[in-house]
Amino acid sequence: IQCLSDDFDFFYFVQQWPGAYCDTKQSCCYPKTGKPTADFGIHGLWPNYNDGSWPSNCDPDSTLDKSQISDLMKNMGKNWPSLSCPSSNGFRFWSHEWEKHGTCAESELDQHEYFETALKLKEKANLLQSLTNAGIEPNDEFYSIENISEAIKEGTGFTPGIECNRDSARNSQLYQVYMCVDTSGSNFIECPLLPRSRCGEQIQFPNFKRIYFVKEN
Ligand code: 5GP
Ligand code: 5GP
Ligand code: 5GP
Repeated sequence: IQCLSDDFDFFYFVQQWPGAYCDTKQSCCYPKTGKPTADFGIHGLWPNYNDGSWPSNCDPDSTLDKSQISDLMKNMGKNWPSLSCPSSNGFRFWSHEWEKHGTCAESELDQHEYFETALKLKEKANLLQSLTNAGIEPNDEFYSIENISEAIKEGTGFTPGIECNRDSARNSQLYQVYMCVDTSGSNFIECPLLPRSRCGEQIQFPNFKRIYFVKEN
């Protein structure tokens, strides 16, 4: 009998702003799937409990099978790129996300459905458009967390969780946006609980152009 760790309450659908991931890592490596577009990228789709805890690594026997997601890989390269070093085509990052988080939702979504669901959610949320519509752009300017949150609520219908990190000048900056999704993966819902934001009052939306990629030999 499989462990019953898949009775989670909701998903966090987490997107990362590449500029903020990369300047915190000091550097990133140019993905083998090509230059990332100036857009949010998917970090993961994470099963969660209403009390804030979460299950992880629920099925040690399940590893990501390339043949299950071959029709999605091109789309994943664009919308779920891995920016860490060394350069990769993303498969390691996706495998990690599947093993740590995806296996805890296996009763709801198989491998193909899990990744397809995340891609659909990204398309549906269109965060950058919501922000741009409200005049919030990745131009190194500072915005209040309320304005960012409001803009996303206006665009998507739901209040997001906003997570910040700090750049090398210690500025608080927009790093990740959390949206909540029902256990079927089909519908955004209001978050039962917002993640810890770690944000200052005013947060910078870093310019994508600032990303610099390490040159590898
Ligand atoms: P950190 O400690 O950097 O916030 O998170 C490290 C990793 O723990 C994340 O990338 C993610 O895999 C997992 N994690 C952090 N916070 C949450 C959460 O609220 N829910 C779930 N399901 N996973 C989380
Ligand atoms: P923190 O002290 O920030 O709450 O957690 C530190 C680390 O412990 C997190 O980055 C995460 O990796 C792990 N962690 C915290 N809470 C949970 C949980 O409910 N489930 C799991 N799997 N890991 C957790
Ligand atoms: P999590 O924080 O979800 O537990 O783990 C993310 C893992 O994927 C880390 O080991 C991190 O180094 C790796 N990784 C590879 N590419 C990326 C990326 O573009 N963004 C993030 N956040 N992690 C990545």
